[in-house]
Amino acid sequence: MKDVLYFAPTELTEALKLLAQYGEKATILAGGTDLVPRINYYELKPEVLVYIGNLGLDYIEQSDGKLIIGAATPTAKIAASPLVAEKAAALAEAARLSASPAIRTAGTIGGNLANASPAADLATPLIALGATVVLVSAKGEREVAVEEFFKGPGETVLQPGELIKEVRVPIKKGKSVFLKLGRRKAMTLSVVNVAVYVEMEKGQRCVDARVALGAMAPVPLRCKKAEGVLQGCVLPMSALEGAEFLDKARIEKAAELAIAESSPIDDQRATAWYRRKAGKVLVARALAAAAGVAI
Ligand SMILES: Cc1cc2nc3c(=O)[nH]c(=O)nc-3n(C[C@H](O)[C@H](O)[C@H](O)COP(=O)(O)OP(=O)(O)OC[C@H]3O[C@@H](n4cnc5c(N)ncnc54)[C@H](O)[C@@H]3O)c2cc1C
Repeated sequence: MKDVLYFAPTELTEALKLLAQYGEKATILAGGTDLVPRINYYELKPEVLVYIGNLGLDYIEQSDGKLIIGAATPTAKIAASPLVAEKAAALAEAARLSASPAIRTAGTIGGNLANASPAADLATPLIALGATVVLVSAKGEREVAVEEFFKGPGETVLQPGELIKEVRVPIKKGKSVFLKLGRRKAMTLSVVNVAVYVEMEKGQRCVDARVALGAMAPVPLRCKKAEGVLQGCVLPMSALEGAEFLDKARIEKAAELAIAESSPIDDQRATAWYRRKAGKVLVARALAAAAGVAI
């Protein structure tokens, strides 16, 4: 790589100044696990690199009913965090199943989101958990729901001069589950991944359900129709009245609707046909586990 200006600021304000100064010429470098291969394969020739690993954005905290995760927090740290495991189980599991130990140690949550792969493992649990990203630039700060952050493969709402500062995950009462299918058991990108969040009132009535699919559309996808058929349903043995049952048939209906909302493609990892088949099974299994229903 010749003629690249490289900066490693140690203050966020300094980084934002550089990003504002160089605008579209600037490329943010975090762990480099997505970016550096693209540079090495000549897909990308950055003029200015701004490294964000020295800005103090590596933290996991609990504040105001939320988990706050700095954008430069490595995936390995998220996978190993007892706080994340307790408050956002699906995110912890997605981090644990992502890549390999070396890649998890370098790769960050902000990079996983900003890279905007439809198969990004951390995106679906964050959508299912209703997380937001805080975006900052020299002009100020804005907060965007993760489900609205992605615009297409490799495309996000990030503007030149802007970076992801942190991810905020609301801490809720319900249960979240993440399931991933790859071409092998470890060190593999998702053929399909699924994250769900289900909250059962008194352990019997579904009062909140969220379903997200990865590698099944141009962007990590929230499946609102699937969620809709679960809201208000009660477990078959429930003493609560007046709602539809949350049983095997309903869970399969929700899984069918989730897949109907998706638009998978054929690629080197799987065919669209296989993704639909496998995705439906994964959604049903994840929902059953989160709701406590045997299927
Ligand atoms: C062998 C291998 C296996 C992998 N396996 C998986 C896997 O199983 N699952 C998975 O999801 N991913 C996987 N990945 C992809 C990658 O490791 C992750 O997406 C990782 O989290 C990217 O983070 P990073 O810090 O390395 O990002 P970088 O490579 O540094 O950056 C990626 C992109 O995001 C931008 N960026 C980074 N941080 C920010 C920020 N804070 N604000 C704005 N823009 C930013 C960069 O400019 C760049 O465009 C794998 C990669 C490799 C090489």
